[in-house]
Amino acid sequence: MAALSTQDILARLVGFDTTSRLSNLELIRFIEAYLAEFGVTATVQHNEEGTKANIVATIGPNVPGGVVLSGHTDVVPVDGQDWTSEPFRLTEQDGKLLGRGSADMKGFIACALAAVPAFIEAGLKRPVHFAFTYDEEVGCLGIQSLLPLMKDLIAQPRLVVVGEPTSMQIANAHKGQYVSKTRIWGREAHSSRPQDGVNAVAVAAELITFITGMTARARIDGAKDDMFDPPYTSFNVGPISGGSAFNIIPNYCEFDWEFRPVPGADPQAILAEYHAFMEDVINPHLKATFPECRAENAVWAYLPPLKAEPGADAETLALMLAGRNDTTVVAFGTEAGHIQSIDFPAVVCGPGDIAQAHKPDEFVAISQLDACDRFMKRIAEVLS
Ligand SMILES: [Zn+2]
Repeated sequence: MAALSTQDILARLVGFDTTSRLSNLELIRFIEAYLAEFGVTATVQHNEEGTKANIVATIGPNVPGGVVLSGHTDVVPVDGQDWTSEPFRLTEQDGKLLGRGSADMKGFIACALAAVPAFIEAGLKRPVHFAFTYDEEVGCLGIQSLLPLMKDLIAQPRLVVVGEPTSMQIANAHKGQYVSKTRIWGREAHSSRPQDGVNAVAVAAELITFITGMTARARIDGAKDDMFDPPYTSFNVGPISGGSAFNIIPNYCEFDWEFRPVPGADPQAILAEYHAFMEDVINPHLKATFPECRAENAVWAYLPPLKAEPGADAETLALMLAGRNDTTVVAFGTEAGHIQSIDFPAVVCGPGDIAQAHKPDEFVAISQLDACDRFMKRIAEVLS
């Protein structure tokens, strides 16, 4: 299997349907076997069910000052999308390579793997590490179990590159994302007898009104960062369900909501404000009416914001590797926020354009892969 080109490897990676609801193990086994061909031993970390895995590997001596190449192996579904090519077969068309995950973000992983022979030949004095995850697209689940293992297996790196598609620009900041589910248990009764029930939908409305208030306060008094549009923490209430008929007082309601904090905002303080309203205002009243009634909130997915560290060594190195002199920010969340939370300096940089991600006929331009191959070559030079 030795010495495959970037395009060959990308074709193999795209060929594994790693839609997040499916297993990514075949792809992980492919990477493990590919690395083994070059004498590189990888550590595979399975999820609890044993159906998916993260993979970590190091080339060169595991000393501080290396570069981590990081990314997710799962892709978003193609269901209901109108593709002109076969989504899980890499197809070349006018200088573009079409396929699900070609931009987001198997293209970056292909470049990293194709550079393995060059990393080995370079006789690295400081290491290159790989850290590839599962379930990024469904709430960054894989990276959360990987973080302690990364801290264990990877000597403090100089830079982590998260290879989400940025057209090979260096993105040094993004907003965070905290997704919650609020559940309300009321008490069912005939609608003509409100004194016998607690209307869970009406309680949801009070809580949503509170969220609307937080939205306004975040816009007016909250942390600002003009790098982002909008420059403040935004909120959204998404799906809501509750009630079964107009003449039944609903005994249950639930809704999902999220906020996207700018890097200067304190996500825990925002959550604490909501929880305080729930515990100090809503729940005492519910419990006093009927003891079984209550509201609860749980964060089920989160992504810390990525904070820019302008002028820091990691950012300077990243710019040099990409042959650029300015940074950008991205509007989407990435695993880089999680990685920064363990004090590994991280930026986002990868081939392809986010505008093509998650869409039918997703593609990466061959010129983008070439630029990323050059990026990998410079890593080998810098670390040897
Ligand atoms: Zn992605």
